[in-house]
This record gives sequence, structure tokens and C-alpha cells, in this order.
Amino acid sequence: MTGMSTVLESEEHTALRTAVAALGRRYGRDYLTRVVSEGAHPDELWADAAKLGYLGVNLPEEYGGGGGGIAELSVVLEELGAAGCPLLMMVVSPAICGTVIARFGTDEQKRAWLPGLADGSRTMAFGITEPDAGSNSHRITTTARKDPGTGDWLLTGRKVFISGVDIADATLIVGRTEDARTGSLKPCLFIVDRDAPGFQRRPIAMELKAAEKQFELVLDDVRLPADALVGDEDAGLLQLFAGLNPERIMTAAFALGMGRFALARAVEYAKDRTVWKAPIGAHQAIAHPLAQCHVDLELAGLMTRKAAHLYDAGNDVAAGEAANMAKLAAADACVKAVDQAVHTLGGNGLTAEFGLASLIVASRVARIAPVSREMILNYVSHQTLGLPKSY
Ligand SMILES: Cc1cc2nc3c(=O)[nH]c(=O)nc-3n(C[C@H](O)[C@H](O)[C@H](O)COP(=O)(O)OP(=O)(O)OC[C@H]3O[C@@H](n4cnc5c(N)ncnc54)[C@H](O)[C@@H]3O)c2cc1C
Repeated sequence: MTGMSTVLESEEHTALRTAVAALGRRYGRDYLTRVVSEGAHPDELWADAAKLGYLGVNLPEEYGGGGGGIAELSVVLEELGAAGCPLLMMVVSPAICGTVIARFGTDEQKRAWLPGLADGSRTMAFGITEPDAGSNSHRITTTARKDPGTGDWLLTGRKVFISGVDIADATLIVGRTEDARTGSLKPCLFIVDRDAPGFQRRPIAMELKAAEKQFELVLDDVRLPADALVGDEDAGLLQLFAGLNPERIMTAAFALGMGRFALARAVEYAKDRTVWKAPIGAHQAIAHPLAQCHVDLELAGLMTRKAAHLYDAGNDVAAGEAANMAKLAAADACVKAVDQAVHTLGGNGLTAEFGLASLIVASRVARIAPVSREMILNYVSHQTLGLPKSY
């Protein structure tokens, strides 16, 4: 497996893939496994990726970024994942938060946040999911009311499954204003510092083995300065989707990387392991499912590149549809590749030494988050095919 390059990829992107893959190989799966077992974070890899300009490759050059787009950022995440050491916080910090601030932030917010997000010295988490809303974001109830005396915002609500809040300097919280408390979501985005009074977090015990922890958040009248609001309080869904489409493309890249990593381990094993005359990879019952996984990953990679291309070209509507489809295809391809890889290794598929079984849980994340495969199929049914809605 040399990569997902060729058609629809520029020479620059192919060169970026090669360079990131080399960094990934220097760290590899063993590094991440050790970090996770120590309850630590992949700080060394994060710092090295930042130093090479990979973490802020999508952010504007005038704020220290690489001046590229989600196409480049997704290449970075995919290649680190294919090497066995993905950096999950890339999905939220530079991709969602960096994009939203770069597109809708004030000059002051850009100056305050983008250089740090670009050089990796600061990170930002992202919180939209709520316990009583789940997939139905229109039901979120986190509410901001304005203190008429000071102009401050007071933010109250609950969030769940928010990744990396402990390591992030701040979390971009999606709420709604008091004036728009009911009805379809008119989202407002607020930067909430990690240590803001009234901002409480509790880690959720997960079966997932990952360096990034998930948190339940309680916001109890968290007082925020007027300039904690990013963008316009009346802008509606457009601003939010400017961040959510990159999130979907990055989740697709995360899934592609993991799928490629698992498939490569299985192919390597199947070429070598011999229990009859020829290596097990000579049996078509082993070879064909692996070949199918490769095809599925290639196809999902193509769709991911299309989505990134549309997004970077400023076509938000077409990018939304493509990003959803890419995320669904990549997540499914990843789940199948991991399952097939574990099976290919027989008993070794379940050993700690080969480290593939834990990916069975990890590969499910991309099917559930940030939007489940059913919600994507709903989207395609209604938005693309024009079918009626059941809910
Ligand atoms: C590891 C991990 C990290 C995460 N990180 C973040 C984060 O950083 N920030 C954040 O905001 N969120 C995060 N999430 C939350 C994630 O986005 C949600 O879990 C996801 O949106 C699904 O919501 P839910 O879990 O409430 O599922 P539910 O909405 O309760 O859905 C449960 C099941 O019902 C199905 N379903 C629901 N509605 C329909 C329908 N209309 N038609 C058909 N099927 C339907 C779903 O597809 C799903 O299979 C994370 C989740 C995980 C697992």
C-alpha cells in the first residue's frame, strides 16, 4: 500500500502525502499505543507535525497558517492514520474551530487564536452534542442571555461526548440566544475558556482506547465577554456548516487512514502466514475480501477528495452533500477493513501484540460521529433525492 494518490491529486498533494507518511512512520502505532496506555497525549507528534506546518496547513498565511485548505489538512490526517498514529484533535481544532474563526471571526479573534491553532501551541475543542438532542441538533437548549448592564453573555446548558476539553485551551460551544430559544436551530458560537467559572467537565468512561477523552459538560451561567461570540448571532446555519463540512471531510480522512492501516497489516500477514502449502493470502477467501476493502477505500478516498475540492472552492452547498457521502463511504470502508483485517490474522487478530482488535471499537466512531450513517442516508434521501421525510 503506497497511498491513495493518483487521479484528482496534484503533485503538491502527493508530495505532502509522502512527507507526512514519513513523519507518521517515525512515530507509528507503537508510539500511540504507549501514549494511550500511559494515559498521556501524543504531544511529541503534535509538536513535530506543528513544526512542519501540517497542523495549520489550511489556515490563512497572514496568521501563520499554510494558506491551503481542507484538501491539504485531510491529507495530513489520513497519512498519520495510515501510519497508525492519527491526531484526532485535528478534526476539531484547526478544521472546525480554525475554519469558523478564519471565516467569521473578528480581526481580534483571528489574531488571538489563529496563530496558536496554526503552530499547534493552542487547541480548541468543539461542543454541539447535547444529551437530550443527540442527532437532532434543532433540539439543543444551551442558551445565551445578554447581561444588559455589561453586554456580557451568560451561557447555560449541557453537552455530552465533547472530545479533548481537558487539553484544549477553550471549547467552541454551539448554543442559541434567548430570543431564538425554540423552533429551528439558529446557532450561535461562543469561545469558552477551559477555566471559565461555571464551566464544569466530567470524563465519560469509554470502551474506546484513544488519547483523547470524551467529556460531559455543564455550563452554569458561564459569564463570557461580548467578544466570545464568533460571527453574527443572526447568521443562522451557514456559519455552523462552514465548520461542520470540514469536520465531515476530516472524519472521512480519519476513517480512510485507519482502514488503510488495518488493511496493510492484514496484507502483510497474509503474504507471510503459511499453514498449508501457500501463504493464506493465496486463498481467494482471504484475498478477495481484502481486495474489496482496498477498492472500497480507494472509492471513498476519491469522494473525500471531491468533497475537499468543493469545499475549498467555496461551494458550500455541493460540499455539504459530498462531505456527507464521503464520510459515510469512508466510515463503512473503514469498519469493513478493520473487521476483515482482524479476521485475516486469526487468533492474532485479537492479541495485544498485533493491536488490531481495539480498532473494532475505534472504527465505529466514524460511523456514529459527527453524524451517524442513518442521518446521512436521511440527508441524501431528502436533500438529494427529494424523498418525503418521516420525522
Ligand atoms: C468518540 C466520540 C467523540 C465525539 N466527539 C464529539 C465532539 O467533540 N463534539 C461534539 O459535539 N460531539 C461529539 N460526539 C458526539 C457525536 O457527534 C454523537 O454521538 C452523534 O451525533 C450521535 O448522537 P447520539 O450519540 O446522541 O445518538 P442518537 O441521536 O441518540 O442516535 C442513536 C441512533 O439512532 C439513529 N437515529 C437517530 N435519529 C434517526 C432518524 N431520524 N432516522 C434514522 N435513525 C436515526 C442514529 O443513526 C443512531 O444509530 C462524539 C461522539 C463519539 C462517540
